[in-house]
Amino acid sequence: MRNEHDTPKTLLEAVKFFADYDNCHRVMVRKRWPDGIVRCPACGSDHVKWLANARVWKCYGKHPRPKFSLKVGTIFEDSPIPLSKWLPSVWLIAGAKNGISSYELGRTLGVTQRTAWFMLHRIRKAMQAGTFLKLDGEVEVDETFIGGKARNMHVAQRERRITGTGGHDKTAVMGIVKRGGEVRTMVVPDRKKGTLHAAVEEHVQAGSALYSDDLRSYDGLAGRYAHQVVDHAVAYVDGRVHTNTLENFWSLLKRGIHGTYVSVEPYHLHRYLDEQTFRYNNRSPELGDDGRFELALSQIVGKRLTYDELTGKAAMEKQRREFSQEADAWKARD
Ligand SMILES: [Zn+2]
Repeated sequence: MRNEHDTPKTLLEAVKFFADYDNCHRVMVRKRWPDGIVRCPACGSDHVKWLANARVWKCYGKHPRPKFSLKVGTIFEDSPIPLSKWLPSVWLIAGAKNGISSYELGRTLGVTQRTAWFMLHRIRKAMQAGTFLKLDGEVEVDETFIGGKARNMHVAQRERRITGTGGHDKTAVMGIVKRGGEVRTMVVPDRKKGTLHAAVEEHVQAGSALYSDDLRSYDGLAGRYAHQVVDHAVAYVDGRVHTNTLENFWSLLKRGIHGTYVSVEPYHLHRYLDEQTFRYNNRSPELGDDGRFELALSQIVGKRLTYDELTGKAAMEKQRREFSQEADAWKARD
């Protein structure tokens, strides 16, 4: 028989488990206050009283808004969605190998697709890696292009884009991976020397062994790194000189995006990257889905994100202008 501190092992268990408010309460208290002492998020005092009916604590400190719920100070604050729906969503995102669509989540939780979309994005944003240690040892660097708009394009345009080798109408993504260790991923504006060098210097310890393909933008890194280039033109290569680890990661990422998500707007791509990056970096089988859930929740609790930040109104506006020509093209068709 499982004890009450267990977390669920399957989705069905997760939905049932968190339907019980007491379980949500216990899991959240454990994450927010690991020493078990509940403190007021406004003043830090532990002189607080639990009001069971209202499901809030009352702080005896003298300050405005002395009552606080489990959600205050977390990304769940300001949301009418109950923890009984938030927590299974975190559980799903942390564990689902190929990601999950907002349609699927909406059906599972009994909320609208739009609500599920909002929840997923808020959770992904909060799961962004928080480590600032640089990668060392043997490090691979590579870029790929991801195009998420094909679904909405005029047929001729779509064919041109899909058969083209990519570039200006796709989003460039850069990856840096330590062999046998962590991966870092980022959306980059271009593949120019300045952009790629800055990312490498930010994430890779000087003196590390660095492997890349022969893109000219990587020239000039040999001063800081033991840089070796994969020459795809020659049959014979040194066994260590490859970028296979990243190439495997890219195929995993693309399978997730194309298999699960209906479309990924370029502006939101970095959150999907964060999600896949989180899963890759916490892929140890010993961790298990429940371990991944605990980790994800640790990263999430304490972070906040407003709807405006989430939807990035200014960025969306810019993007809308950039894609306006294309939009006009398919409006004309309708
Ligand atoms: Zn207080």
